[in-house]
Amino acid sequence: MTNHVSILGSTGSIGTQALDVVRKRGINVTALCVHNNVELLEKQAREFAPQLVAVFDKNRFNDLKARLADTPIRVEAGMDGLCACATESQCDTVLTSVVGMVGLVPTLCAIEAGKNIALANKETLVAGGELVMAAAKRKGVKILPVDSEHSAIFQCLESSPRKEALKRIILTASGGPFFGKTLEALKSVTKAQALNHPNWSMGQKVTIDSSTMMNKGLEFIEAKWLFDLTPEQIDIVVHRESIVHSMIEFQDNSIIAQMGVPDMRIPIQYALTYPERYESPVEQLSFAQYPKLTFFEPDYKTFLCIDICRDAIRRAGVFPAAANGANEAAVQLFLDDKIAYYDIPFAVREAMENAPQKSSVTLEDIFEADRAAREFVLEKHA
Ligand code: MG
Repeated sequence: MTNHVSILGSTGSIGTQALDVVRKRGINVTALCVHNNVELLEKQAREFAPQLVAVFDKNRFNDLKARLADTPIRVEAGMDGLCACATESQCDTVLTSVVGMVGLVPTLCAIEAGKNIALANKETLVAGGELVMAAAKRKGVKILPVDSEHSAIFQCLESSPRKEALKRIILTASGGPFFGKTLEALKSVTKAQALNHPNWSMGQKVTIDSSTMMNKGLEFIEAKWLFDLTPEQIDIVVHRESIVHSMIEFQDNSIIAQMGVPDMRIPIQYALTYPERYESPVEQLSFAQYPKLTFFEPDYKTFLCIDICRDAIRRAGVFPAAANGANEAAVQLFLDDKIAYYDIPFAVREAMENAPQKSSVTLEDIFEADRAAREFVLEKHA
């Protein structure tokens, strides 16, 4: 149960929804940290009165400092600022809701400082899963998933602590806006179409990843680390309505599902109040409003990113970090109108396969693989 939280990425989609939960639950805010939105950070700081705030973009430091000059709040900047927020003494839980590889080091700092992690940053486990889980184990801290699918699996597993009884987990996927399309049909996809997600409201990068199903591939890798599974124990099913958030199956083929309306404040609140449950601002699920829940096998021939991620985690080492870095670069090129939507998975696979085979990985190896994969994509496609 969180009493004092530091939020890394407080102005993003997860961050603002987390503050909604924090406000309603009366959780204390120790630190807030943003990429560059100092206008909103100032408002948040005045409302939640943290000890410390930080802006990652150092160019915004003076602006932020001037805005908060009449308050006792300390102001920091850059990666040092993020790590200061992640390790500030009073907080017991760090919510990592920054987007991108920038989340990895502050998360490791927070773990080393003995903080529990409410994890909403994908890259932390995708790129650094082995290091992060080992550090968490060594320090005895909890990694509490915020992502709806992982929260669902986490909640289902609570019902059966006996790991040997588990056969597999089943991640649900909405299928995105291009469900039912052929690979060929993706050649004409526009930016507006790719940014229009049917069920979830999210940031741009995550929305594109959801449309290519790279998001599900990354979640596959995260699930492997989070729940200590083999890739063979993880299945994916397309579930258009996003009501079943994921499931676990036992040896006797009994399945437990976690359900609810698609609203991130349920998993955010559970991560922050675990193991307690409280009333939430989210509406109750009315089954009568969803008379039909549908399930489909993912179309792996159209959504190539799922198998790219599955291959990356089977190869292990730095391959997942390379796939993730290449994807971030490719999605940015697409958003900048430099490559077509259709090109994204091909760019990612090529860069992933170009990564070096390593039996054990260090933090430096991970950052190098990430950098090299991005460069590979930029050189080929920019
Ligand atoms: Mg998700």
